[in-house]
Amino acid sequence: KAKALGKNKYVFCNDSMKRETGERTKLLKDLHYALVNDELFLMFQPQVNCDKNLISGFEALVRWQHPQKGMISPGVFIPLAEQSGLIHEIGEWVLINACKQSYTWRKEGFDQHIMAVNLSVEQLKDERIIDKVTRIIGTYHMDPKYLELEVTESVAIHEEDDVIQRLAQFREMGISIAIDDFGTEYSSLSRLKRLPIDRLKLAMEFVRNVDQSEKDQAVAKVIIDLAKNMKFRLIAEGVERKEELDFLMSNGCSEFQGYYFYRPMRVDEINSFEGQEVRL
Ligand code: C2E
Ligand code: MG
Ligand code: MG
Ligand code: MG
Repeated sequence: KAKALGKNKYVFCNDSMKRETGERTKLLKDLHYALVNDELFLMFQPQVNCDKNLISGFEALVRWQHPQKGMISPGVFIPLAEQSGLIHEIGEWVLINACKQSYTWRKEGFDQHIMAVNLSVEQLKDERIIDKVTRIIGTYHMDPKYLELEVTESVAIHEEDDVIQRLAQFREMGISIAIDDFGTEYSSLSRLKRLPIDRLKLAMEFVRNVDQSEKDQAVAKVIIDLAKNMKFRLIAEGVERKEELDFLMSNGCSEFQGYYFYRPMRVDEINSFEGQEVRL
């Protein structure tokens, strides 16, 4: 009986694995067309500065409106794009459209915001990324001091010197570099002090229920102090509740991104704002 069960189980797994591979292949094929068919779009999530009571920036977050499957999250298709090499084209599309939007907002008088764009490590491994970014910010009138590139902590820890060198080159151009989801990968501190970066983004997993968990409080405080002492700007991600905000603010964090303030929004929704005042 056990043997039969084992056999059944084996067959079941195998089928589902095949099905999954089939779906991935299909999705990847669709992703190739997503760019030409204009199925990608950007949402922008405001970043707020609670000292100044202002929206200080936006993070550009890519979305895929699939013709049959509806909205597909970047958590699903970005890894697929990274594995297939499509990330280079998608990443370029994101950068161009984020810069375009930023320019439009600045022309309309909203001229102090930072535009944060996520960069995959695959993009950074390609030496042409420097020329690409240079060309894009030139073409779309992006002032480099208002552009921020977000990379994950793992880039900083594991990557080769040429990747780190590219981050330094971006900074020389006046672009700032943020470490996304900071705290989740346990950076080596000796590495961190040599990294060419400007900002840490305190990972959502430490923000979630930070008012209730002593361990998360300890981690959040360490990262807040670390940023302060190393003179990195800091923003806390994923703030959803007033209690989380209160804890972080009273411990010296003043920049936030999260559903408590704003969800990622479409351009027209942001354009309908009355001013730049933060909704508190
Ligand atoms: P991320 O860069 O860490 O972006 C933050 C994610 O957290 C976003 O998910 C955002 O919608 C979500 N979020 C923000 N505030 C809250 C909150 O208060 N609560 C909760 N539960 N979630 C919140 P999203 O848009 O699904 O993006 C997921 C990830 O996909 C991003 O994480 C980023 O790593 C990647 N990604 C998105 N756009 C791009 C892109 O253009 N290029 C690359 N390479 N990666 C991208
Ligand atoms: Mg990010
Ligand atoms: Mg993040
Ligand atoms: Mg992330």
